Amino acid sequence: MTGTERRPGPTGVPSVLPPVPAGITPCITGYSRETPLPLALVADPVRGRLAYADETPYDRDSWGTLWTRTAMPPRGRRGSPRPQVVHPYRQRRAMLDLWCRICKRPVDPGYTGPYLFLRGAEGGPVCEGEHTGSPPLHPPCAAVAVQVCPDLRGCWTAVWARHAPYWGVTGDVHDPRTLAPRAVRVEIQAESSAVRWTVSHRMLVELQHVTPLPRAALEREWARLGRDRLEHEFARIAALTGAV
Ligand SMILES: [Zn+2]
Repeated sequence: MTGTERRPGPTGVPSVLPPVPAGITPCITGYSRETPLPLALVADPVRGRLAYADETPYDRDSWGTLWTRTAMPPRGRRGSPRPQVVHPYRQRRAMLDLWCRICKRPVDPGYTGPYLFLRGAEGGPVCEGEHTGSPPLHPPCAAVAVQVCPDLRGCWTAVWARHAPYWGVTGDVHDPRTLAPRAVRVEIQAESSAVRWTVSHRMLVELQHVTPLPRAALEREWARLGRDRLEHEFARIAALTGAV
């Protein structure tokens, strides 16, 4: 294939979009050497909550919620990307400060909103008050996301949310007496008593004051940017995200 030929895009990629250069990996994607670490669960009778026998300050978020442990080798030693896997720590960091899912920069440095969110279209339109663990996106990064994120490829829906405050987590709830898992990968609101017995895997925000963004409108925005600008943006994103 010569450099002037267009390679066929994945199913459903709008024709306005240039193909994504090789090597772009969303910032929340896990890598092969970022493996889950063993969890030595204990009950903390003083605080009445789940804990780790060898707990460190890095094991809880700023709300005091316990988080699962995943290896974090330095860049360059992470192995190969695993597109279906989300790294819990990087997901939490991105959701906490509403960093872009692709390029890890704030989507709105002034934090005034609105914020662009995309998700798979299987669940119908995004609703007011819906919870999500998928970080927001810059519009050019959304053009990358619909091509490289497995949950979005070919079937996605978009929304502007004026606010996206912390709502809770997705995690595993453990029995306070036996410490055995009682519910796996369930959504737990931050105010719930169950959060004290939860090992968290994803941070969730609530989408408030949502305005659906029809697919055609986002495609018009990409068309307005134009292929040259998008190719320039893709190269910039590749430089930000490519090195592992
Ligand atoms: Zn971005």
